[in-house]
Amino acid sequence: MQLKESDEDGFGIEIVLQQGDRKAPSCVHGPTLLFEKVCKGEEKGRRFYACSACRDRKECNFFQWEDDKVSEARLLAREEENRSKMPPFTHQEYCSRFRKFLALPLGRRFCQDCQLLLLPGEWEIHASHKMSQADDITEARLSRPSLMLKPLENKKSNAQYLFADRSCHFLLDTLAKLGYRKVLCVGTPRLHELIKLRNQEGKSDPMKSLLLDIDFRYAQFYGTDEFCHYNMFNHHFFGGEVKVSTVCFVLEPLDKSIKIKQVLKSVFFTQAASGVLRAFLGEEDGEKVIMVSDPPFGGLVKPLAHSFSQIAETWRELQTSEGGVVEMPIVWIFPYFFEPRILECFPSFTMLDYQVDYDNHPLYKHGKTGRKQSPVRLFTNLAPRDVVLPREEGYRFCKVCARYVWSGNKHCTKCNLCPSKDGRVWKHCSECQKCVKPSWRHCQSCARCALPDHPCGNSPGLEGCFNCGSLKHKRRACPLKDKRRTDNKSKAMNSKRTSGAQRRANKLKKTTE
Ligand code: SAH
Ligand code: ZN
Ligand code: ZN
Ligand code: ZN
Ligand code: ZN
Repeated sequence: MQLKESDEDGFGIEIVLQQGDRKAPSCVHGPTLLFEKVCKGEEKGRRFYACSACRDRKECNFFQWEDDKVSEARLLAREEENRSKMPPFTHQEYCSRFRKFLALPLGRRFCQDCQLLLLPGEWEIHASHKMSQADDITEARLSRPSLMLKPLENKKSNAQYLFADRSCHFLLDTLAKLGYRKVLCVGTPRLHELIKLRNQEGKSDPMKSLLLDIDFRYAQFYGTDEFCHYNMFNHHFFGGEVKVSTVCFVLEPLDKSIKIKQVLKSVFFTQAASGVLRAFLGEEDGEKVIMVSDPPFGGLVKPLAHSFSQIAETWRELQTSEGGVVEMPIVWIFPYFFEPRILECFPSFTMLDYQVDYDNHPLYKHGKTGRKQSPVRLFTNLAPRDVVLPREEGYRFCKVCARYVWSGNKHCTKCNLCPSKDGRVWKHCSECQKCVKPSWRHCQSCARCALPDHPCGNSPGLEGCFNCGSLKHKRRACPLKDKRRTDNKSKAMNSKRTSGAQRRANKLKKTTE
């Protein structure tokens, strides 16, 4: 099932976030999400459960109507199937394998086909596979798993696009300068890796990092306190219990004269993986936490925002000092055309002009190299003026907007802001009374600015409410949503219904228009 927030064939698909304790059935990616298929002219849509993580049925074909009665036998078969698709080892097993791997006296092998660090007993079965050999697998290489593992580029699930060094260093420098000492890396394996590398170099203040990612291959390289196998679309931790080693102080009476002595002990205990997150989010030791997430761009905004809110809520519960920061600091990395949706979920966020670029994405590169400009931006609740964008890369500070902006983003005195979203120089339209993209022209019959070759009078940019036909809001925000639909078949209802943001996300290749 291809899940978009709305579809092109006269029906829309919407996500229904469930309240209360109704339990969604699970696929191998954890609890599924509830969607509603709303058809043209129908009063109420039909609801179904589908995979939260995969936007392509080929990768996870879970489908269940909300009102389906599922037999006991089918439930059991499903559970069995989910189990069979789990990673071959538990995280603890991966950890002990890694220790053995590091201690190998002769030859280290990494199977490129299976993406697995091999122990000698396994060489045989992987004999016909493509292999990296001993001299390739140095300590230095093992500390850069993002270079060793083949990026999972499938756009409809992992969409693993790794930060270019320029962006990764910029991000980390920024966080360090702002005094953050703990970084919760949600889907940012390369940032996590860079933090560890810098700690090893020892040139800067040490920082802690916890990686949450659905790519369990990383469990081969990181301990249970550094990595959790996690799904950010349903806030699901895989694998249940993990064994955690913690050093703690135990108070023990030793002899009468000293009464109590502190003994350093290493204790092992098991806890749910979500406990690892909880332990990480505490700031008792004065170490400030920030979360950085770079979700797959095809992902739905609402479920992501829901998960991030749950993380932020855990953070807030652990806050001790009063009157301090009220919101957990977050940086959400996403394409600029999702700005309205992200702000709808997180009104306190600001989109910054910084263009994030990637190593393995041919089109999302930095503008100055002569390639296309990346459409990916930072959305954050940090004070925009504090995020200093590099002058040498063409950013400047706008005093009026109180934030750093791209050099091509000229402040408009009529709008009283720096209007450009996509990095190009926008121009003011006096009739629309706002700044628009440079390629747009004002169209008298549409009474708005549009591309010169827009389908006039039936502009796909004008997407109205699916429910009442108003052009002022979407169905999601319709005040009449629960009331009967009008017979008034509006222009909007007949027009193609994919939202602008989603359409652009679907055509990831096309970065400008
Ligand atoms: N730019 C980042 C990588 C972002 S790519 C970096 O260089 O560190 C998106 C990341 O999110 C990938 O690592 C991918 O494995 C992870 N991901 C994709 N779907 C996910 C999901 N449902 N839950 C958690 N992580 C996911
Ligand atoms: Zn699934
Ligand atoms: Zn400005
Ligand atoms: Zn203007
Ligand atoms: Zn106009």
